[in-house]
Amino acid sequence: MTDASAHTDFDLIVIGGGSGGLAGAFRAAGHGARVALLEPGALGGTCVNVGCVPKKAMWLAAEVAGKLRQAAVLGFEASPATLDWTTFVAHRERYIEGIHAGYRRRLEAAGIALMPTRGRLLDAHRVRTDDGLVLSASHVLIATGGHAVRPDLAGAELAGLSDDFFAWRAAPERVAIVGAGYVAVELAGVLQALGSHVSLRVRGRRLLESFDAEISDQLAEDYRQSGIDCRFATATTAIERVDDGLRLRDGNGEWSEPVDAVLLATGRRPNVQGLGLEAAGIALDADGFIPVDAFNGTAVEGVYAVGDVTPSPALTPVAIAAARRLMDRLFGGGPRKALVLDDVPTVVFSHPPIGRIGLTEAQAREAFGDDVHVLRAGFRPMLHALAASPQRSLFKIVCTGADRRVVGLHLLGDAADEMLQGFAVAMRRGITLDDLHDTIAIHPTSAEEVVLMR
Ligand code: FAD
Ligand code: NDP
Repeated sequence: MTDASAHTDFDLIVIGGGSGGLAGAFRAAGHGARVALLEPGALGGTCVNVGCVPKKAMWLAAEVAGKLRQAAVLGFEASPATLDWTTFVAHRERYIEGIHAGYRRRLEAAGIALMPTRGRLLDAHRVRTDDGLVLSASHVLIATGGHAVRPDLAGAELAGLSDDFFAWRAAPERVAIVGAGYVAVELAGVLQALGSHVSLRVRGRRLLESFDAEISDQLAEDYRQSGIDCRFATATTAIERVDDGLRLRDGNGEWSEPVDAVLLATGRRPNVQGLGLEAAGIALDADGFIPVDAFNGTAVEGVYAVGDVTPSPALTPVAIAAARRLMDRLFGGGPRKALVLDDVPTVVFSHPPIGRIGLTEAQAREAFGDDVHVLRAGFRPMLHALAASPQRSLFKIVCTGADRRVVGLHLLGDAADEMLQGFAVAMRRGITLDDLHDTIAIHPTSAEEVVLMR
């Protein structure tokens, strides 16, 4: 850690050392700014410690478990796919410690003053630390992220949140997961693949409400085939302890079979408590986020916000891109260029994963009426066909206009997570269906379906 006690005046104070805060601090320092970074917890924030990174590690473990099961079917002498979590988690945590060490080295090398403290705004240019130090800067970046919410229902304290999942050292035999968003869907897939019996309690009618309906229906079918008990239209109104575990009550007053653990994956809220926003003159929006303009400026000159504390898509690359662009402008003489958030590619690490960019079919029909052309490819990937597994893939292209411009691409299937990035570049260039059809396929792959769809 750089000794900050000697300095209290900076060009930039960054509050929060997660994805957005670190990216902003490094980029500003790279432009020569004197930077203080305030982070009371582990460097890397949600993504590195209780989000993307440990989640992806668990997803990879689940993928390996699935492959081992297929291997046995295909004639390999593979032993049963049981995971010793303690061993795997040791590898996972070692990997994360490597990221922490890398950040510390880079902060030191960049001359960034890292302070292990919370920050509270006193006004637009001054921030107080927990130990009473008052720092000043011409610019302040708020990047305090968000936290998982525990819904207001009886017995909610008996359940875990996603942060608790990462502290587990064994798969519970029976687990209920409440929610149908990214976290619920991802953890359900991981736990089922690693040996739990998962019951997914969805208050609505489908998984991943904001995704294309056919894609989420196919995922629900794939999940059902894998043994996950997807309960739709099932509100959860209470949780209670019984002799052999926990049980959950639904909206009709019916109690579930007991489970060993419950995970509540019912969404996240921005971290704005104790930030001194009122003192600085910053009001929250109706959902509790810090409102920002297209350039990540708040209502107060000199104070900026990026990442999950703002209403932008809650994704690590969005926080990073916003922070870098802002710092290029503030300290690098870069243009006043807004971050375009129209076509943000996103992946749900389900089993199989979903890659999505652009409009769903329903959104396209709402925007363009009948002038929408949809292509679909439903197929069984070769490995699943060889192993006689029922899992199916579904790819969809949504186009509009006489030139059939591609406005949405939806991929559910193995390797969709790795396929999407290249197509995202193409979508940014405004491609049409003819461009896809003019491209020679790569055979035999799943990806070729995207350019062969008719
Ligand atoms: P964070 O990374 O949350 O960092 C905020 C930091 O601010 C924290 O370290 C916190 O300690 C600190 N802080 C809070 N208050 C203060 C204060 N007053 N003073 C100083 N510091 C403070 N996104 C993806 O793109 N891909 C994924 O696969 C993915 N998986 C996820 C899985 C899970 C289970 C979860 C929960 C999230 C996942 N996300 C994923 C979302 C991603 O983690 C967030 O979008 C990203 O971390 C947001 O970055 P941020 O900088 O805004 O906030
Ligand atoms: P989401 O907002 O994605 O999903 C919340 C879910 O909880 C919804 O299905 C919602 O249902 C349901 N819900 C809310 N309240 C209740 C309740 N009282 N009872 C039952 N169900 C309830 O939140 P997540 O925490 O899953 O993810 C937060 C964000 O983090 C994501 O939007 C994403 O941006 C990011 N993330 C990204 C990942 C990735 O990139 N792979 C992975 C994980 C998170 P309803 O639809 O009915 O409101």
